[in-house]
Amino acid sequence: MNPEQLAAQGVRKLTPYLPGKPIGELERELGISNIVKLASNENPLGPSPKALAAIQSALNELQLYPDGGGFDLKAALAAKLNVGVAQITLGNGSNDVLELVARAFLSVETSALFSQHAFAVYPIVTQAIGATACIAKAHDGTRGMRYGHDLEAMASLIDGKTRVIFIANPNNPTGTFLNRQELGGFLRIVPDTALVVVDEAYFEYVNEPNYPNALEWLDEFPNLIVTRTFSKAYGLAGLRVGYAISSPGIADLLNRVRQPFNVNSLALVAAVEALSDGEHLKRTIELNLKGLSMLEEAMGNRGLGYIPSLGNFLTIDVGRNASPVYEALLREGVIVRPIANYGLPDHLRVTVGTESQNQTFLAALDRVLGL
Ligand SMILES: *Cc1c(COP(=O)(O)O)cnc(C)c1O
Repeated sequence: MNPEQLAAQGVRKLTPYLPGKPIGELERELGISNIVKLASNENPLGPSPKALAAIQSALNELQLYPDGGGFDLKAALAAKLNVGVAQITLGNGSNDVLELVARAFLSVETSALFSQHAFAVYPIVTQAIGATACIAKAHDGTRGMRYGHDLEAMASLIDGKTRVIFIANPNNPTGTFLNRQELGGFLRIVPDTALVVVDEAYFEYVNEPNYPNALEWLDEFPNLIVTRTFSKAYGLAGLRVGYAISSPGIADLLNRVRQPFNVNSLALVAAVEALSDGEHLKRTIELNLKGLSMLEEAMGNRGLGYIPSLGNFLTIDVGRNASPVYEALLREGVIVRPIANYGLPDHLRVTVGTESQNQTFLAALDRVLGL
């Protein structure tokens, strides 16, 4: 019996998501400690202390199922974002929400549209359903931001089959963004037979006046879904909690395919507290901006190219096949992210860490590149 032949069409051709290498795995392989992981855009400061305290107090109720409706977290999000509770869908990470969108709206008869170099989860959720993936070429630098989403190219691929359009703003792994005018103009021309998912996983980190908060468009565009997460700036990647904001009608459909208890009880309480800790978020953002400019400057000094980034990571061009550089960095105890699977074989994505982690990375990079 060949299980492959029994698998659903779309699943047969799937390649699994490639995560950043876990610290424990490298420890086992090399027998070393003090590893610096800058591979998954995690917050080097960790979560808010208030979130940790909330988790601690929730531990004695682990025998209970979580609140499947996520009442407290939805209320906190609704108040903070000035949206209705019925517009929010909670997910086991925003990844979960992206999958809910695919399950609720895609089928073998329809297609999803996204850009070259876009976040890897979009092709996975699309193919798993058996829907067609339409991939628009990214900007090549002749106009628009090199490696960034080319909205004209995307618009030209929209047809009657297009049911979901995924846009990461800013995008991972490129760090590129679409400004208010560009994204607003695109939303205006998308027919109402297609949903637009604007994935704002790095929203909190963005420090750019012309960056649009897509929530402001929800009333104008009923086909818009905005996704955000507690994994990045809020430092709760390990707990898996994210959310979508949409029209109540879309949220109702997502809720139909959602697992009844998709967000665990520790994640629910931690996220509520994380939201209320503006100080911790501020520290996180400041540390990131400082680290990001330091890394950009360091790349400039070394004559290495990079893609200007609005996120908590910098994608650098090592000017050669990045795979051996990645491997050599591992042996130095530094984990970064190779992104050949994103069509960027000469690039490495480096998460902005603490000052000392960033310095460790730079020193290792210098040794590896012989600089
Ligand atoms: C990290 C990331 C996510 C999702 O992360 P979750 O941990 O599942 O919330 C979504 N989109 C982009 C672009 C990301 O980089």
